[in-house]
Amino acid sequence: MQVFVRTLSGASASLDARPDDLVGGLGQEALVFGGQDLDPASTLAECGVEDGSTLFAVARLAGGGDGTPAMGKKHKKSHGLCPRCGKRSFHLQKKRCAACGYPAAKIRSYEWSKKSKRRRAPGTGRMKHLKTMPRRFKNGFRSGTTAPARKKTAAS
Ligand SMILES: [Zn+2]
Repeated sequence: MQVFVRTLSGASASLDARPDDLVGGLGQEALVFGGQDLDPASTLAECGVEDGSTLFAVARLAGGGDGTPAMGKKHKKSHGLCPRCGKRSFHLQKKRCAACGYPAAKIRSYEWSKKSKRRRAPGTGRMKHLKTMPRRFKNGFRSGTTAPARKKTAAS
């Protein structure tokens, strides 16, 4: 397929590329497509680049790419998503979550900040256990049996 690269000076160049080519393999310092910064390590297809798409070459900026340098490091390579808290805090080599301490049995918590307490308040999870408790209580915690046939209500 053919893609176009528009440089800062406004000149356009066409490139022959395949959908599974890496963005970084196009020989440009930084590319923007559809308003998004393209990750050099992902393929063109992953970025939604199709035949005839025009990419924009931009000067490389630190941070979010919108001109603000202070976005912090994202730790995308060293930390993955935590199975327990869902944050990108699971250290892949240490096999431990920096935020919640997974796989430790107890959730790492210091009661430091109001905001983090609010994020982890009762009812912010799936409530996997308690969700069915009232219904199961109503049925006397029956298990392995079927519901008894409903009796006809006495006609008034
Ligand atoms: Zn975690």
